[in-house]
Amino acid sequence: EAKRNGRNQYEFFSPRMEEMARHRLDIETDLRQAMSNNELLLYYQPIRRSASMDLSGYEALLRWHHPTKGLIPPLQFIPIAEETGLIHEIGTWVLTEACRAAMQWPVEQVVSVNLSPIQFARRNLVERVSGALEASGLPSARLELEITESVLLDETQRNLETLRQLKQLGVRIVLDDFGTGYSSLRYLRTFPFDKIKIDKSFINEVCESREALAIVRAITSMSRSLDIETTAEGVERVEQATLLQREGCSHLQGYFFGRPGLLDPQGRCHVKLA
Ligand code: C2E
Ligand code: MG
Ligand code: MG
Ligand code: MG
Repeated sequence: EAKRNGRNQYEFFSPRMEEMARHRLDIETDLRQAMSNNELLLYYQPIRRSASMDLSGYEALLRWHHPTKGLIPPLQFIPIAEETGLIHEIGTWVLTEACRAAMQWPVEQVVSVNLSPIQFARRNLVERVSGALEASGLPSARLELEITESVLLDETQRNLETLRQLKQLGVRIVLDDFGTGYSSLRYLRTFPFDKIKIDKSFINEVCESREALAIVRAITSMSRSLDIETTAEGVERVEQATLLQREGCSHLQGYFFGRPGLLDPQGRCHVKLA
């Protein structure tokens, strides 16, 4: 009976798994070509200062314009880029392209770039970052690097040293998706982050859930005492924006203020797309 079940399961899952494996292989093969074919592009999402509602800058968000599959979101190909090591080359392109774009914006605006934890595995990350700054001429203070807690999970000492060297360059280091890890608070003691992004899962419920509100309050008040800025990500509604402003989040980002989109050379968002 067990054997029969096993066999049925095998027959049931096999074509599916084969299809998934083939899809993955397609993506992997195509991704190797994507860079040279100019199929990668950066969308930019505005980030506002909550006190003045001034534009503080933009977060660069990677997209892949696949010739047959259309626009592919990062969560569908970045994991593959990470497994294959392509993330090093892609990440360097993102840095260079984002710095180059920011050079066209008003001087007070900052560009935020996401780094994969895998990019920390190579010793030349600091050189790649300083190379992107030099090639574009962007002052280092106008670049923010967003990392997630996973960077501090393995290879902690080595990655901390890399973070210190990046900070030495004058770039700002941001802890992304804050609150989703299992020991978020600990990481605030290990490195002097310039800014924390409160994960959108909390922002999502902040108007309805007492717990979410309490957590957001705790994060903002703690950040204030530590002299760390806070961005609320995923702000979709005006009530959330008002509440987060009142709670003292220093920066706000989300569909309410603008979806990620293409920018013209002057830094104006002229295409509103997901
Ligand atoms: P993230 O850095 O946390 O970026 C925020 C994600 O939330 C983005 O998804 C953004 O489009 C989305 N978002 C922004 N506002 C709202 C909102 O109001 N509501 C909702 N529901 N979502 C909102 P996206 O662009 O699909 O990127 C997903 C993740 O992919 C990013 O999460 C980041 O971890 C990664 N990623 C994107 N670009 C890059 C890149 O250049 N390099 C690396 N290593 N990772 C990247
Ligand atoms: Mg981010
Ligand atoms: Mg985030
Ligand atoms: Mg996120």
